[in-house]
Amino acid sequence: MIPDTTKVLIIGGGPCGLMLANELGRRGVPAVVIDQKPATAFSPQANATQARTMEHYRRLGFANEIRALGLPPDYPTDIAYFTRYSGYEITRLAMPASREAAKLIKSMGGSWGAAELPHRVSQKLVEQVLLRHASALPNISVNFGWRLTAFRDIGAGIDASIANVATGEERGIRALYLFGADGPRSFVRRQCGYDYVGEASAQRDFLGGRMHAVYLHTPEFYQACPHPKAWMYWTFNRDRRAVMAAVDGKGEFAFHTQLHDGEDEAAVTESVALGMFEQAMGMRIEVKILARDTWLAGRTLVAEKFQKGRVLMGGDAVHLFTPTGGMGYNTAIEDAVNVGWKLAAVVKGIAPPALLTSYEAERRPVAIRNTGYARRFADSIGLYRATPALETDTPAGAAARRRAAEYIGNHARAELNIPGFTFGARYDGSPIIFGDGTPPPPDAPTIYVPTGNPGGRAPHVWLPDGRSLFDAFGFEWTLLRVGPRRRSAEPFVRAARAINLDLTVVDCDDEEAYDLYEADLALIRPDQVVAWRHSGGDDADPHKVFARVIGRD
Ligand SMILES: Cc1cc2nc3c(=O)[nH]c(=O)nc-3n(C[C@H](O)[C@H](O)[C@H](O)COP(=O)(O)OP(=O)(O)OC[C@H]3O[C@@H](n4cnc5c(N)ncnc54)[C@H](O)[C@@H]3O)c2cc1C
Repeated sequence: MIPDTTKVLIIGGGPCGLMLANELGRRGVPAVVIDQKPATAFSPQANATQARTMEHYRRLGFANEIRALGLPPDYPTDIAYFTRYSGYEITRLAMPASREAAKLIKSMGGSWGAAELPHRVSQKLVEQVLLRHASALPNISVNFGWRLTAFRDIGAGIDASIANVATGEERGIRALYLFGADGPRSFVRRQCGYDYVGEASAQRDFLGGRMHAVYLHTPEFYQACPHPKAWMYWTFNRDRRAVMAAVDGKGEFAFHTQLHDGEDEAAVTESVALGMFEQAMGMRIEVKILARDTWLAGRTLVAEKFQKGRVLMGGDAVHLFTPTGGMGYNTAIEDAVNVGWKLAAVVKGIAPPALLTSYEAERRPVAIRNTGYARRFADSIGLYRATPALETDTPAGAAARRRAAEYIGNHARAELNIPGFTFGARYDGSPIIFGDGTPPPPDAPTIYVPTGNPGGRAPHVWLPDGRSLFDAFGFEWTLLRVGPRRRSAEPFVRAARAINLDLTVVDCDDEEAYDLYEADLALIRPDQVVAWRHSGGDDADPHKVFARVIGRD
C-alpha cells in the first residue's frame, strides 16, 4: 500500500532517489519513493563508484556489501587502450583488484587520505543494494511502476497525483516536500519552469554526439582478446572507437560506441549493433545482446535552479555530464547526502525551512565544477584522433603507437586518478558554513589537499585501533577535539541538547589530525563536511555556531 500522506515524496528510484530514501529513513523521516520503471535499472549504466561515494556507503554501513559486487575480487581494474580488442595494446593504467582495496587505503595518505578507495561496479548492482537497504527501513515505501503525473505546491505542502503505469489507476499523495530525482527528462524540473544551462551537444571524434550502448554477454571475449584482463577497454582506430566496461568479469560487458554521421539510430538493428562491436573487436566472436539504448554524449548542463518552494531536485534532473571521470552518478549521490540531513532537520523542526536554501547554494556550484571537469576529460580523449598508422605492422606504426601511448597515458592518469575531483569539492560561500577567513586550497582534479578549513570534506586519519576517524563520527553532528589543548565540550553539548541537535563528541590525539585540522575544535556536519573550527581560548559561543550551521542565523 502506498501511504496517501508522507513527509517527503521522492520521484525517481535511481541512485539519487534511493540514496535520499536511505538518508531520510535512517533518520526516522517517512518518505515515499515512486518510479515509473518496473524495477531498478537492467542496463549497467555508470561503472565507477568514486571514493567519496564509498565513504558515504561506509557511513550508512554497506560499503563492504558494495565492494563485494561486480568483478571478482582478484580481477584487475586496469584501464587499457587498444587499436582493436584483438589488435595492438597501446597502453594501460594498472589498477588494483578490489580485494586489495581495504589494505591499500590504510597505507596511503596525502591526496588519498581516505577511508575508502573507489570501486568499479555497475550502477545496476549498486541500485539493488540501495533499494534493499531503503526498503528495510520502517518509514520508507518504495514503489516501482508508478509515475508522477501532476503536483501542486499548496503552501502547507505538496499535493501530487500519481498513476500506475500498468493499470492506469490514479492516486493522490500529500507530502511536506517533493524531491525530483527523476533523471534527465525531469518532469519535476520542467513543471517548475527551469531549464538546463550550459553546453547541450559538444561535437567530438568520440564522446560528443549520439552514443549507442550495448549490454552484451560474450565469455569468448577473454580468449579472443590476446591481452591481460582489464576493467575498461578503449579502442582507437578510424572505423570504430569504443569504450567497454567489464561488468562481472565473466563475460558481461557494457559497450559504448558513437554513431557516425549518417548512422541513423532508428536503423541500428541488433545485427548492426553486433557489426559495430565486431569492428571494435577486430574479429567475429560469439556475442549475445542483453539490452541496447542510445544516449547523448557531449552535455555540460546544470539546471538554473535546484529548488522552488517545497520542491527540490537532484541528480541528473539538475546536472548532465559526459561520463568521463565517472561523476554523474557520484554527484547525484552527494546531492542526496547533502539534502538528506537538511530535509530531516527541517521536517523534525530542528532547523527552519531556510536551511534548505543552502542545498542549492552548496550543490549548484559543485555541479558546475564537476560537469566542467568531466567536459575537459571528454575533450582530452574525445578530440584525440586515431591515425591509420596506429594499426600498421611497420616501424612507423610502432612509432605512432608509442606517441599515442604517451598522450593517452597522460590522459588516463589525469582522468582516472582523481582524488581532487572526488574529495575536493567545497562549500565556500555557503550561508551555513562558518568560514574563518583562511584561503581554500587550490582546486584540481588530481590533487586533493586535506584541510580543516570549514567548507570542505573533513580530513581523514586512521585511528590507533585501526578504525577510520569517520567510523568514530556520530551519524549526525560531531564535535571533534584534536591536539594537546583539550577544550571543554560541555557548552556545546548543552547548546546542542537545547535545540535537539544530536551531537557526538570525539577526541582524537593523533598528531596528524591536529596538523590537518589546524584547530582545537572542529564541528563536523552529518555529511562529514567541516562546518566550523576553533583554536585558542574557551571563547567560542556554541549558540552562535549552531544558529549559523543549521540556518537559524
Ligand atoms: C551510458 C552511461 C554511462 C554512464 N557512466 C557513468 C559513470 O561511469 N559514472 C557516473 O558517475 N555516472 C555515469 N553515468 C551517469 C549515471 O548513470 C547517471 O548520472 C545516474 O543514473 C543519475 O542518477 P539519478 O538518480 O539522478 O537519475 P536516474 O538514474 O536517471 O533515475 C531517475 C529515475 O526517475 C524515474 N522517473 C522519471 N520520471 C518519472 C516520473 N514522472 N514518475 C516516476 N518516476 C520517474 C526514472 O524511471 C528513473 O528510474 C552514465 C550514464 C550513461 C547513460
